[in-house]
Amino acid sequence: MIGTDPRNPFLSRVAARLRRSRPPNPHRPTSLIVERLPSGPLTRVWFNTAGCPEDKRGACTMCNYGAGGPTTGDEMVAQVEAAISGIAQPEGTLLVSPSGSLFDAREVPTAAALAILRLAAASGFGAILTETRPETLTASLVDQALEAVAGRAFGVELGLESSDQAVLNLCVNKIMRLADWRTALALLSSRGVPVTANVSLGTAFLSPAEAIDDAVATVLWALRHGSRDCAVFPLIVRDWTVLAHLWRRGRHEPPSLWSLVETLIRVGPDIARRVSISWYKDYDQERGGASADMTALAVPTTCPDCHAEVVRRLDSYRATGDFEVVAGLDAFTCPCHDSWRASLDGAQAPWTHRLPSAYEALGREVLGETWWAAHGSGVLDWLGVALGESGAQARGQPPVGPPSNASSRTAIRVNSPRSEW
Ligand code: SF4
Ligand SMILES: [Zn+2]
Repeated sequence: MIGTDPRNPFLSRVAARLRRSRPPNPHRPTSLIVERLPSGPLTRVWFNTAGCPEDKRGACTMCNYGAGGPTTGDEMVAQVEAAISGIAQPEGTLLVSPSGSLFDAREVPTAAALAILRLAAASGFGAILTETRPETLTASLVDQALEAVAGRAFGVELGLESSDQAVLNLCVNKIMRLADWRTALALLSSRGVPVTANVSLGTAFLSPAEAIDDAVATVLWALRHGSRDCAVFPLIVRDWTVLAHLWRRGRHEPPSLWSLVETLIRVGPDIARRVSISWYKDYDQERGGASADMTALAVPTTCPDCHAEVVRRLDSYRATGDFEVVAGLDAFTCPCHDSWRASLDGAQAPWTHRLPSAYEALGREVLGETWWAAHGSGVLDWLGVALGESGAQARGQPPVGPPSNASSRTAIRVNSPRSEW
């Protein structure tokens, strides 16, 4: 049974506490990356804002796009204008994004969002792409956006992360219902706006095998429900996140690049044509490193002997979409490829069974023994109710089954948050 409140009050509290010590970075410069994709050149422009409002509420165990200072709408427009005017040859697609949500008026005033789209449309690029959370979209906003891009091809990336509501709520804390995502997709599709689903690989609390299962099932779910394509993100561990806390204590590793290859192999060549891979390397590192508020602590990798070659081949796949490159990587011989395969076979209780002890450790370490003594049993009761209908997992069956039309692969009852936490 799916409840109506997608918030995870425990993970929100933990993440908000971890982010408390993140240094603010009010003057982070606009970030610009140009790449060549099978569909043509892609220029990505991220502008600075005060940050994603959901980040401030403790959402998303993997995310840290930094904490900018107060930024006015005019300043945002000026940032984008300056970035675009510095592009010598605008061609292909322009992604323009605040890193959070363009259509969240708490982050980007609507007038500024529309002005930015008008600037993008006038810049000479053939297509405009942006990112937003699904619940920020309304019919009126989409219509205004289409008017702003004035006939240019326009697409929207919607963060999905996982098509399993239980994973979203209990592992990602995305603060989103799958139903919201599907509503946004239907709204955009009804106006001819294609959707790219952003999919996570390496979510907190999932084993490597579970993470691959989840990414594969999520890609299939998103495409079946009408996404034009998907982008799979093997998750980087950024500081001041729940992932970073788990990584520091040896309870999380970023996914191996072999897991990314396996995800592509599992979806197969036909579907992989609609799947891009993103941030399988640290782009910031290539540009001198991320700013202090977004430090990358660990990135998806293989071993030092093969890493450069694997990344070179993944670069080639990202640029060409040639599935032969993926097949070649699948057959690539390296001892680390063998040990990665062996690591997938380890017998382990499903994540739903491991979660109570993972929450307890997090609660004690981040919120403190006193807090846990006062609230720990309430947290575990809440979690128990959330997982209470997870009969398959309780019986020790794998948590991720074949994709279905159900709204959640793992049964879950989403409780109302407990205000006393
Ligand atoms: S993943 Fe998106 S919604 Fe979640 S904190 Fe990051 S920017 Fe905000
Ligand atoms: Zn290797």
